[in-house]
Amino acid sequence: MKILLASSEVYPFSKTGGLADMVGALGVALAEAGHEARIVTPLYRGIREKFPALRKVDWNFYLPLGDKFVAGQLWELDYAPRLKIYFIEQPEFFDRAGIYHEKNISYPDNDTRYLFFSKCVVHLARYLPWQPDIVHGHDWQTGLVPALILQAKREGWGDAPRTCLTIHNLAYQGVFPKAVFALTNLAPDFFTPSGAEFFGFLNCLKAGIAFADIITTVSPRYAREITTEEFGCGLDGFLRTHAGKLTGILNGVDYAEWNTEKNRHLFKPYSVTQLAGKKINKRELQRQLALPVNEKIPLFGTISRLAEQKGVDIQLAALEEMLQADLQFCVLGSGSPEFERGYRELARRNPDKVAVRIGYDETLAHRIEAGCDFFLMPSRFEPCGLNQMYSLRYGTIPIVRATGGLDDSVVDYAESSKKMNGIKFYDYSARALAKAIRKAMAIYPNAELLKKFRQNGMRVDFSWKTTVRDYVKAYNSTNPPSSKLNITNIVRL
Ligand code: ADP
Repeated sequence: MKILLASSEVYPFSKTGGLADMVGALGVALAEAGHEARIVTPLYRGIREKFPALRKVDWNFYLPLGDKFVAGQLWELDYAPRLKIYFIEQPEFFDRAGIYHEKNISYPDNDTRYLFFSKCVVHLARYLPWQPDIVHGHDWQTGLVPALILQAKREGWGDAPRTCLTIHNLAYQGVFPKAVFALTNLAPDFFTPSGAEFFGFLNCLKAGIAFADIITTVSPRYAREITTEEFGCGLDGFLRTHAGKLTGILNGVDYAEWNTEKNRHLFKPYSVTQLAGKKINKRELQRQLALPVNEKIPLFGTISRLAEQKGVDIQLAALEEMLQADLQFCVLGSGSPEFERGYRELARRNPDKVAVRIGYDETLAHRIEAGCDFFLMPSRFEPCGLNQMYSLRYGTIPIVRATGGLDDSVVDYAESSKKMNGIKFYDYSARALAKAIRKAMAIYPNAELLKKFRQNGMRVDFSWKTTVRDYVKAYNSTNPPSSKLNITNIVRL
């Protein structure tokens, strides 16, 4: 198949979270499975310097945003066999210090930035000599792509590709004032309650749900959860209407990047049968973080965006209680100033037990995954979550709240006393998390049991091979373009 992936961030070119990891790895995995994959993404500041092999393509385009035209320029990179990456250059929109925000304040023109990007995606899909069978967008930033393709179909694009939208996080929907709809140049009948309209606003993700041929989310449990009021972020009813085209596919892990045997970031390699190196990673991590170097003290870690979703409030409260015990904790993350302050304050009061690193640091992320004994992910909700899967591979026991992809990827002792590889808790409360940490403290001195948990985790395989098979199955599950419903039917759904 020929698949054009479209995403606002793609690892290793740009990244703020799991979305970038997933799209980069999906592209590679599709190509390795023999498909022709191309990825389109914005050309953010610094990418050209970091990847000097990028080539300018002799192709300028002017695309309408309402009654104005905005110029774009195409760059490309042959990244792997059968995998090309396209970059959209638009200096005013994308040559900035941040991707979505600076100093925690979202760029006020994110609506036009990603609407323009979505238009570029459709323009490429239509006019490249290479014609994709499927255009696969990710999250609200590309939510308008299916509608734009349907409109182009109406206007005579006979063999338009099918469309797939993956929801990585329903909490971010790209909701903007109605006036922004005029910039889409879509016909008015796209802006109805069964389409892009959300209580008088333009909702980009909802438009994607309405008009894409296939919708996927990044874990089976999250696919079920988002059709409920608790997790539906106001779109649960709408998702139930479209449940027939919704599937959940657990993300894979890029083991070429996230492994313990050949990893430039680690102090010492180790493996499922040679666990000794893990101790050295712990020792060196304790040293790097200026914590007392002591193998006997269990070390807990977290790497996270410091956002409400990630359960920072219950984590801070549970640690407050648990730090009376003999344990160490380290966190790497950035986000809400309130949460950053909370962790800094905890470290100030417990300098021998808590190490806090505010910021983004890939090397330290690998070192925390390798050096810690337990990894904490007490998320309020978690569409997939990658860190718990990295932890499993690194022999670091994940402690997770049983939600979304965390529930799908971790096995608790209560579920299987043979295959257990992590600790789950259910209530969203500091008390439930503290209880889970207490369980970890009880496991830690039991060397045999600890090893069993670790080895079980390290043997689990979340490689992309299976995930790619599921995506290709999903791509094929749509009607071929020739028999696709016409737009009037879709709008009336
Ligand atoms: P989300 O996409 O919701 O942020 P995921 O667990 O799916 O959460 O993915 C997070 C990804 O971002 C992981 O690869 C993680 O290691 C990385 N990450 C998050 N915060 C940081 C940070 N401060 N420094 C380095 N990597 C980070």
